[in-house]
Amino acid sequence: TLTAGFLKLLLLFLLCLAPPAKAADAVRLSDVPAGLLGLHAEQLVEGDSALTLDEALAQLQSGAFKPVAMPVPDFGIGSNPVWLHLALENDTREAQPRKLLAGVTWLDRLELYVVHADGSRHAVHTGDELPDAPGLTPGMGYVLPLQLPPGRSDLLLRVASVDPMALPLELMTAEDYASHRLQFSYFYGFFFGFMIALGAYNLLLYTGTRERSYLYYALALLSVLFCNVAYTGHGADWLWPHSPDFQRYVILVSMVVYNVLGLLFASRFLMLAHYLPRTQRVVCWSMGLAVGGMLLALLLGSQLLAGSLAFVSTGAFTAGMFVLGLVSAWRQRPSARYFLLATFFGMLGVGLTAMSVWGKIPFSLFTFHAAEIGLLIEATLLALALAHWMRQHREARYLAEQVARQDALTQLNNRRAFQEAAQLLVDTSTRHDRPLSLVMMDIDHFKSINDRYGHKTGDEALVAVANMLKRMSRSSDVVARWGGEEFILLLPETGLQQAVNHAERLRRAVSELRIPAGDGVLSMTASFGIATRSAAMSLEELIHEADMQLYQAKQSGRDRVCSTPSPERACPTPLPRLLLR
Ligand code: GH3
Ligand code: MG
Ligand code: MG
Repeated sequence: TLTAGFLKLLLLFLLCLAPPAKAADAVRLSDVPAGLLGLHAEQLVEGDSALTLDEALAQLQSGAFKPVAMPVPDFGIGSNPVWLHLALENDTREAQPRKLLAGVTWLDRLELYVVHADGSRHAVHTGDELPDAPGLTPGMGYVLPLQLPPGRSDLLLRVASVDPMALPLELMTAEDYASHRLQFSYFYGFFFGFMIALGAYNLLLYTGTRERSYLYYALALLSVLFCNVAYTGHGADWLWPHSPDFQRYVILVSMVVYNVLGLLFASRFLMLAHYLPRTQRVVCWSMGLAVGGMLLALLLGSQLLAGSLAFVSTGAFTAGMFVLGLVSAWRQRPSARYFLLATFFGMLGVGLTAMSVWGKIPFSLFTFHAAEIGLLIEATLLALALAHWMRQHREARYLAEQVARQDALTQLNNRRAFQEAAQLLVDTSTRHDRPLSLVMMDIDHFKSINDRYGHKTGDEALVAVANMLKRMSRSSDVVARWGGEEFILLLPETGLQQAVNHAERLRRAVSELRIPAGDGVLSMTASFGIATRSAAMSLEELIHEADMQLYQAKQSGRDRVCSTPSPERACPTPLPRLLLR
């Protein structure tokens, strides 16, 4: 049904592009043209004083009515009241019931007069100025019942409204009408359901993440949904049927509210304050201007001012969103391309609808409902954009966290990262009473390396030592740069003897490193202090113990491994290699 409906909309749109037929014989009931009847009608725009029906009929006689040049007569914003004339010929022998669709849902006042061949007359008054407006059909317009006796009937429709005055005219049988309504019900059921679900989902995301983009996006969605509920007449039909004063302004105010919320979302999402601070200021001012102007219009009670403002604001907003997307995508801002694509569809839809009800392009079912179709596409793409944006932020944050835990020179863990990881290992080993050792290592006479070869070579030596440590460690070991030329290793599942052996291997590896320095190479040695966990030693106690042992190693001649309690192996005499050098 939806595809069929959509195809029909498309067909109607194409029909609208056909050249206008010339006026305006009576439409025969046995052969009613499909679709909108504007081209079969005649129009007269009232001067400064209102015409009565008799005066209008006299004008009709005198040929003052002109053929309508568009399938949908359209008089834009703030027009004088308009008379339309449509002649119908019931070419059957019986009275025929029909439904006349006349005008869009937001028109202020419609008066329909039917003059039959026998001179009898029939009148209906409706429009959203009236509470419980007769014939108000959400999404379609005003649908008024006609009872047409055999022969000719003249329909005269007087419309007065400062809102955009688009006057689609369509003659339907009861079955046509029922099938139209069903299609519209499906369409709006889908549209409202989609928008509400997406809005609610983003509100939930906001409560979960506290990211304001989600909040602004959800509010913008719900406000444009509300605006749509208001302008399609669903509001006046279901929610506030007895409040014509409210109906007068609610559409216009909700347009501006949507624009402001949409801009709030855009500036947060595109991080304008950060990337384009001057644009951000312009955006803030325009939002202030739109809200201030609307408040002024409400205070003055000027529907014309409110209407002009709402449409100018919507035009500027739609174009502005697109330009913001363009600039941000041009500058390769995160997720801007999704945003651009989304706003493009939104802009296209809202633009088509606004232009068609403003009378700038032909009004058709397709152009009239383009905003809703565009919004569906835009909302989907923006939801994708938000997901993409969130993922990028998470990745950036993860990277920043990684960086905050790493030593910049050696890429080893820094002291903070070591302490976090080590604490867990100490706790686990205490709980299960498993062996655990800690090695503290300090390069010997590093100051003199710096002094002799320069700081840069000193750095290279540190990196070489760090790489060696990484290479020689197990994945379960925690290796970190503790400070300047001090390194620390925590070795789980490692008892004293294994730790001493490991440290010995490291000591030899340090002394075998050769670092290019000036014309030659430099070599170095390091001292090691070891502590092994006994009973419930805390991490601090382990570190303190290893530090003491390191001090011991330095005191007793450097280039050696010291540990307690290991009387037989502690601080062996310096190895021959050192003596040989
Ligand atoms: P000891 O054998 O007693 O440990 O003597 P040492 O010279 O190695 O010890 P000391 O603590 O007196 O000096 C450490 C030196 O390490 C001093 C400092 O300039 C140098 N240093 C600390 N961090 C860095 C660094 O990131 N790069 C370089 N090139 N040198 C560093
Ligand atoms: Mg040192
Ligand atoms: Mg030192």
